[in-house]
Amino acid sequence: MFIDTDIFARIVAGEIPCDKVFETARILAFRDIAPKAKTHIIIIPKENLVTAKEVTANNLELFGELFLVAKEIAEKENLKGYKLHMNVDEEGGQVVPHVHLHLLSRDFKSPL
Ligand code: 5GP
Repeated sequence: MFIDTDIFARIVAGEIPCDKVFETARILAFRDIAPKAKTHIIIIPKENLVTAKEVTANNLELFGELFLVAKEIAEKENLKGYKLHMNVDEEGGQVVPHVHLHLLSRDFKSPL
């Protein structure tokens, strides 16, 4: 079930602190507050898109940038292998109503 606030928009606005690991003009990445693996980083577009269902031919580059940033963070954190995971909509297990890619590596606790 979605929570009623876009917490990640509030993180982008600086209203809620985060452990930031990477930032570009359009993307922000920070450590998950309740990590499900030794490394668990959330990568988001700063734009307020709710789910990946909003991908269109017009914003493909933005969605692609999530993967590019994931690769760059993984290199920076010396991750040899990792999982990229995205929950899509409430029935897909998404809780925060803002598009985000999970980057997880090592000592995975459970499937998201
Ligand atoms: P979802 O289930 O929506 O795909 O994942 C949301 C993720 O955001 C969860 O792993 C949760 O621990 C994380 N999260 C929720 N609230 C916050 C927060 O305020 N700060 C950070 N850093 N992570 C959060």
